[in-house]
Amino acid sequence: MLPRHLVNCLSHNVNRLDDFRFETDFICRCGSTLFRWYTVGRYGESDPFRRPLSILIEGKPCFRIENECIKCNHRCLVFDSQIHGWNGFICRNEHLARISRPTLDLWKCTVCFAAGQSARIGIASEGESDFNEFLQSFGDRFNPDDWVDAFGWIHISLRCPDCKTDIPGWVDYETM
Ligand SMILES: [Zn+2]
Ligand SMILES: [Zn+2]
Repeated sequence: MLPRHLVNCLSHNVNRLDDFRFETDFICRCGSTLFRWYTVGRYGESDPFRRPLSILIEGKPCFRIENECIKCNHRCLVFDSQIHGWNGFICRNEHLARISRPTLDLWKCTVCFAAGQSARIGIASEGESDFNEFLQSFGDRFNPDDWVDAFGWIHISLRCPDCKTDIPGWVDYETM
C-alpha cells in the first residue's frame, strides 16, 4: 500500500489503520532515520514551527517536499503536488508536472536550528475497492496496481532529535 515512489524511503513495517489509512516511518535504505528536509520556501507567517506552504507556479499550487539522509545523502522526492497523489498522478497535467521548480529551501528546527529530523508519514486514500470502481470508467488509462499512488491526503510529522520537539502536521496536504 506504499506509494511506489516511496517504497525505498519508508519503513515497510506499516501500521494499517483501516482500508483507507496507514502510517509508517521514514527510513533510508542505509538504515538512518534522520533527514534534512526541503520545501518550496513559503511558510505560515505566524506559525512557530514554520510548516511549509505551497507556492503558485503558472497560477497553480506547487507544494514539494524532498528529504536527504544525513548519513549517506540519499535524496528522496517525498511529494510534489503536480506529480503525486490524486491531482498529480490521476489528474496529471504533463506540462505542470515537468516545469522547473524553484530552488528548494532547507528547513531547520525553529527551536534549536538543527537540520536533521526523523519523521512519520500518514497516507489516506479512498481505498482499493473504490479505486477499482473508478477503473470501470477510466480503466483504459490506469490499472488496479495504481491505487497506491492515487492517495488523497498526505501527513508528515517531524521530531527533532536535538531538542526533542515534536511537530505534528508539519505537512498536512489534501491532494484532491
Ligand atoms: Zn542513508
Ligand atoms: Zn530542534
